[in-house]
Amino acid sequence: MTSREDLERVAKRARELPLLQKASAIRLTSILEGHEALDPKTFDLAFEANWMVKAIFALHRRELDAPLVDRIAAAGAHFMGYTATHVDAWVAGWRGDISALRAIWPPAPNGFDTMDITEASLDGFARLGDRSEQLVDALVARVGAGPESAWTECLVQLGRVGIRAGERAARRVREGVRTQSKRTAETRERVLRRISSSDDQWQRCAICDFGKVVWEHSSGMQVTVHCESCFGIGFVPLTPA
Ligand SMILES: [Zn+2]
Repeated sequence: MTSREDLERVAKRARELPLLQKASAIRLTSILEGHEALDPKTFDLAFEANWMVKAIFALHRRELDAPLVDRIAAAGAHFMGYTATHVDAWVAGWRGDISALRAIWPPAPNGFDTMDITEASLDGFARLGDRSEQLVDALVARVGAGPESAWTECLVQLGRVGIRAGERAARRVREGVRTQSKRTAETRERVLRRISSSDDQWQRCAICDFGKVVWEHSSGMQVTVHCESCFGIGFVPLTPA
């Protein structure tokens, strides 16, 4: 049973998180290392660590350097399995370590498979420009299977891969993506256009960082979302539709 006192502590902590998010990458890393804000009595330890790591790499990326990322990697190793894997995925993407990333994603059948890990891994593949058959196979297998929220990121990633995703991927997107969402339907059309046209028909989107932009909620909480201009693909067509 959760007591009223516990709930109040958690609610207080949740109000503090948006403020903490604005702290520097160095400060957030120190918290992660010292667990000073991660007392399991006051908040779910894994939730907060996952939240903090994502804030560091998605919102404070420009503040990172190799020694700081080494510290984050070492801190990550102390957490529970899926949290450690989530940290590893962001670290591998930042370091440009494609083999480490491929060992994480796609997850083995009995491995840790969370939205956080998928998002961190795909961000890394996008930054490294990975267009391998292994990646495309995993994306094609997921797009259109299960709940939409679980595969939207994979759909967008096929758009990032572009023409090298091939006809097989285009067919999967055309036939497998059924949606009630206008936004997802528009994304599907943009992804199909990208897969079906050569790279020289596209240029890098000037608005976003590899398809993501920072969006601030009225509470002050910041999150990264897909860019409106390129649908999260990170490239825009040279000629309008
Ligand atoms: Zn964009």
